Amino acid sequence: MSPRHPAEPWRIKMVEPLPTTSRPHRRQALEKAGYNISLLRSEDVYIDLYTDSGTNAMSDHQWAAMMIGDESYAGARSFYRLEAAVHEYYGYEHVIPTHQGRGAENILSRMLIRPGHHIPGNMYFTTTRAHQELNGGTFHDVIIDEAHDPACEHPFKGDVDLAKLERLIHDLGPDRIPYVCVAATVNMAGGQPISLANLAEVHELARRHGILVILDAARAVENAWFIKQREPGWGEHSVAAILREICARTDGAAMSAKKDSLANIGGWLAVRDPDLAESARELVVLYEGLHTYGGMTGRDMEAIAVGIAESVREENVSARIDQVAYLGRRLAEAGLPLVRPVGGHAVCIDAGAALPQVPRDQFPAQTLAAALYLDSGVRAAERGVVSAGRDPATGHNRHPQLELIRLTVPRRVYTQSHMDLVADSAVRVHEQHAHLHSGLVFLHEPETLRFFQARFAPATSDSPI
Ligand SMILES: *Cc1c(COP(=O)(O)O)cnc(C)c1O
Repeated sequence: MSPRHPAEPWRIKMVEPLPTTSRPHRRQALEKAGYNISLLRSEDVYIDLYTDSGTNAMSDHQWAAMMIGDESYAGARSFYRLEAAVHEYYGYEHVIPTHQGRGAENILSRMLIRPGHHIPGNMYFTTTRAHQELNGGTFHDVIIDEAHDPACEHPFKGDVDLAKLERLIHDLGPDRIPYVCVAATVNMAGGQPISLANLAEVHELARRHGILVILDAARAVENAWFIKQREPGWGEHSVAAILREICARTDGAAMSAKKDSLANIGGWLAVRDPDLAESARELVVLYEGLHTYGGMTGRDMEAIAVGIAESVREENVSARIDQVAYLGRRLAEAGLPLVRPVGGHAVCIDAGAALPQVPRDQFPAQTLAAALYLDSGVRAAERGVVSAGRDPATGHNRHPQLELIRLTVPRRVYTQSHMDLVADSAVRVHEQHAHLHSGLVFLHEPETLRFFQARFAPATSDSPI
């Protein structure tokens, strides 16, 4: 049998012991956490697939670079290393460092958005939209309809619907649209890519109306890999070259280095326009730190500079995405309902379809995540009714189209055996709970961002959860 999972392109030099937990221990931890996986302590979790953000394993080269971090307040050598890496691999002229992605979003939104402005984007992201709204802007989702259909196999579900974008520009007027926010890949859709052809059309349409295109570059390297695999004409180009082509079709970018760049913290904002860069440098001093560290230590900037170069290496990005694909394939073969096609950083299980008899207001995704944790100590993230919150107008729970649990894979952290354990557990839980009739009810419901702090209890006393 040929290996269905390429061997990891690294070997292990330092190990971090994992806590093994018994079922009674997990039962107790889950009750203590109010059945909310967000409230579990990491020491009670065996395999943590809550997020791929800042959970990367760094290489020996990154750790070595940290030792030569320059901690000077002004003009640190480490900043110039980071700037050179962004120039070389992303191609933007001006680089402003920030403590993480949302720091860049804050500066960008303050700079460009005024009350009454509108920002189109290929699906919202939590912190991105929050900063747009804080500055008086309104977000508009202009992603193609296929992105909202979990079964649709469209290869570029991150594409912008140009007709939707054009209509918005026509209806609102270009003066009220400071920029189009394009994510590559689209996190909230489970890591779905945008094609270069579509991005070029978005850029051309925006340029004609004097509107900027700003890239959410958190996973642009992973997006480049998908273009290489799927987009006609790009199969022979390197991931590094395609990344440059993506950025060439945009006017700037906000970056969370906690994703593609294989670091644990950090970010940057980049723009081409020198006047915008000047405004950004003025703002970064107020909110983050001087424009040559932006809230990062010198050693953080060194680790990111090295991480950027490692991230575009074909063997690294391909092993990362193949590992996610492997987990997806194992679940699909066992008949679990998944969001298709599997994205770059996560496998999303359609919990609504997996637990069809659990009422939507008893939170099928949160219930499935709790059951998975109880079975094996694997932590997923909920993306369903709990995360969506209540409609302020009616007071009822919002029912988003998708009721998902997301298994998000950290980069270079877990092995194939771990993925097998996750798959075996998810399949077992799916089989055992397919006929479950009840889920969870609130014991405590916070008013804002309730998924972080909410507490639950089983809806019925005979529930196996
Ligand atoms: C994580 C993320 C951000 C925010 O970055 P932080 O580093 O968490 O502040 C913005 N956009 C996308 C798509 C992300 O995944």
